[in-house]
Amino acid sequence: MYDHQNELQKIINRLGKDERMNNSFKKKNILVTGGGGFLGSWICEVLLKLDAKVVCLDNFSSGRWENIAHLEKNPNFKFIMHDISIPVFFGKNKPNRVSYPNLTDRFDIVMHLASRASPFEFSKFPISIMKSNTLGTMNALGIAKEHSSSFFYASTSETYGNPPVDKVPTPESYFGYVNTIGPRSCYDESKRAGEAFTKAYELQHNIDVRFVRIFNTYGPRIRAGKELGRALPNFIEQCLNDDPITVFGDGSQTRCFTYVVDEVEGILKDTIVPEARGIPINLGHNKVTTILELAELTKQLTNSNSKIVFQKMPKDDPVRRQPILTRAKKVLRWEPTTDLETGLKKTIEWYKMQNV
Ligand code: UDP
Repeated sequence: MYDHQNELQKIINRLGKDERMNNSFKKKNILVTGGGGFLGSWICEVLLKLDAKVVCLDNFSSGRWENIAHLEKNPNFKFIMHDISIPVFFGKNKPNRVSYPNLTDRFDIVMHLASRASPFEFSKFPISIMKSNTLGTMNALGIAKEHSSSFFYASTSETYGNPPVDKVPTPESYFGYVNTIGPRSCYDESKRAGEAFTKAYELQHNIDVRFVRIFNTYGPRIRAGKELGRALPNFIEQCLNDDPITVFGDGSQTRCFTYVVDEVEGILKDTIVPEARGIPINLGHNKVTTILELAELTKQLTNSNSKIVFQKMPKDDPVRRQPILTRAKKVLRWEPTTDLETGLKKTIEWYKMQNV
């Protein structure tokens, strides 16, 4: 049986082992854009447990009220329904603008996670994805500037695009191999622009900025559905329903899957530790798994009768993806500790509780 409180506590215990994190979030005012999403909602929950005051902003384009509904009664949690690609102001009233003058005097930290991230949505909502990561990042940085907050930006391994063989595993120093007009470009290029925005605000306004490049992350609350096209939740849903498991191509493409508990720990460390300021840090698992192996493991762990079927490989789908974690280990003193089988079991348990 999946025990969510236990998973949250693991993150807190691990953060507690790094003396640089001591009481870092206590009584801090923190804005989390995309706080209703998969990663955002885990972050809101952990921050509240660490005695922070959280303002969660989401327009539920990909986030879900169910992810945060249980936080509604917490006096330290406030939710605002808003699309961050539209300017929003806190603290001081700006006539004719969306503003929340009485919510907080000042944010200590702004964390920007708002964006759809599922490949099939890249063709359905390319403009809003571009907006979240460009205008949204700019607006979130604007709040950080006005409040003299530090700023965290959730970037992605997609900034590397589809790297050649000699660039996998990939260090942060690699600039990327990205198709500017391909089916993934709305996400990849806008996330890259988001990094550039972040650096521009650091340069021009001396904002304390942090950003991590998040590699494939999974766990309870990851969105599922054929319309999203994500391998891991698709495979779980297909297996639980004994439907065919749709492997694209021959399944030899690789990914490294990171369990949400590990990822959230890394993100929260990156937000605080002084050494992380201004530099991108890869945050993901470094154990390589082929998509066919993932399909087989999911089938085994769910005792499913599903058959694997092979379908056409999407255009520009990265062939290999693996982070070099030297920087994360050194700067954040972080490395993933959850193997795929353990994390996948927990995710499956959670799915079963949702009555898929
Ligand atoms: N994939 C697959 N079957 C699916 C969905 C995805 O084989 O039903 C493949 C996809 O083509 C990609 C890999 O699994 O090569 C990981 O896809 P995902 O969408 O999970 O993440 P991303 O491509 O963003 O890493």
